Amino acid sequence: MISGATVDVTIRGAGIFGLATAWSCARRGARVRVVDPNGPGAGSSGGLVGALAPHVPERWNAKKAFQFDSLIMAETYWAEVAATGGTSPGYARSGRLQPIKDEAHLMLSTDRADEADELWQGKAVWAVVAAESYPNWAPVTPSGWLIHDTLTARMAPRRAAAALLAAIRAKGGEVTTEAPDEGRVIWATGWQGLIELSEELGKPVGNGVKGQSVLLQHAAPDMPQIFADAVHIIPHADGTVAIGSTSEREFDAPDTCDAQIDEVLTRARTICPAIAKAPVLERWAGVRPRAKSRAPMLGEHPTKPGQFIANGGFKIGFGMGPKVGEMMADLMLDGHDSIPEDFRVAASL
Ligand SMILES: Cc1cc2nc3c(=O)[nH]c(=O)nc-3n(C[C@H](O)[C@H](O)[C@H](O)COP(=O)(O)OP(=O)(O)OC[C@H]3O[C@@H](n4cnc5c(N)ncnc54)[C@H](O)[C@@H]3O)c2cc1C
Repeated sequence: MISGATVDVTIRGAGIFGLATAWSCARRGARVRVVDPNGPGAGSSGGLVGALAPHVPERWNAKKAFQFDSLIMAETYWAEVAATGGTSPGYARSGRLQPIKDEAHLMLSTDRADEADELWQGKAVWAVVAAESYPNWAPVTPSGWLIHDTLTARMAPRRAAAALLAAIRAKGGEVTTEAPDEGRVIWATGWQGLIELSEELGKPVGNGVKGQSVLLQHAAPDMPQIFADAVHIIPHADGTVAIGSTSEREFDAPDTCDAQIDEVLTRARTICPAIAKAPVLERWAGVRPRAKSRAPMLGEHPTKPGQFIANGGFKIGFGMGPKVGEMMADLMLDGHDSIPEDFRVAASL
């Protein structure tokens, strides 16, 4: 606790990185205030997709290890968030299917099962299964075989943001649109923050990459998500299936949808015949924060002495969020710095 201040931590930005940091601080007893002029989940964290998917289990590195830890801790993390605030994030470790295109891919996939045994420490499985194991859901697969992993999970981004918000409030935290700095200060301001920082430093340290997605009405809540032909197909708990996403470095408007998402949807319907006729409920676009290093940008703020930054979640911000929040709370509250080299601010400067 900092004497004289009404809060111990001011968090600027109410996306997944800001809310996860606020939650990790609040659950340790710190008084937190989240400040976002646009309100919670107004940025890329307010979307539809919600894949919490691992990298392939080979050529292990610090980034993959970090992501693995975050995915493994997600189950208890989201359960605690739901129990504290009484709001479900729609989390389930429901796994993932990927088509196997030919004999060579089949051999590679089988080898990766052995690597996963070791690298995933027996906590999750990467297996080759027959497509018939998933009638009425399996993606089209030329070999008749699929990769099934049990590490991949899903959650509903908007519900996850609402669940964190409820849990933070249950611990006495505040969320507001405007407030002065008090206590420790962290900037988790997404792609706009990266653009502002680039302007301040006079060199690019990151940018925004737009993504469009679409939500279908189709109930398959217990089925694994599908990843094929660069498309994510994610069944959610509420009888919907989310499809993502485009990846656009150049864009005029951050929040509009166009024919590019229709092309992704056509691919998704071809990959997974079960959703061929599923009605469209919503189209949504957001802008992912991509740091120059492509990894998260965590640590002391490069232009605001004594303050902190958590940015660069890029395509897997929800997957990394739980561990990012914990690491930032360690650093800000306890002075304990366990940020991997690749994730340091310096890696993007
Ligand atoms: C189409 C699409 C699909 C995606 N799919 C997935 C997926 O399946 N799995 C996954 O893990 N990730 C996915 N992502 C990526 C994920 O959404 C992002 O990595 C994540 O949301 C980034 O979170 P953030 O908190 O850093 O930023 P944001 O959610 O953008 O939050 C930043 C917040 O800062 C606020 N802000 C800006 N300036 C200020 C200021 N000066 N003061 C205070 N607040 C400010 C904004 O209003 C905003 O609310 C997807 C992204 C998109 C666009």
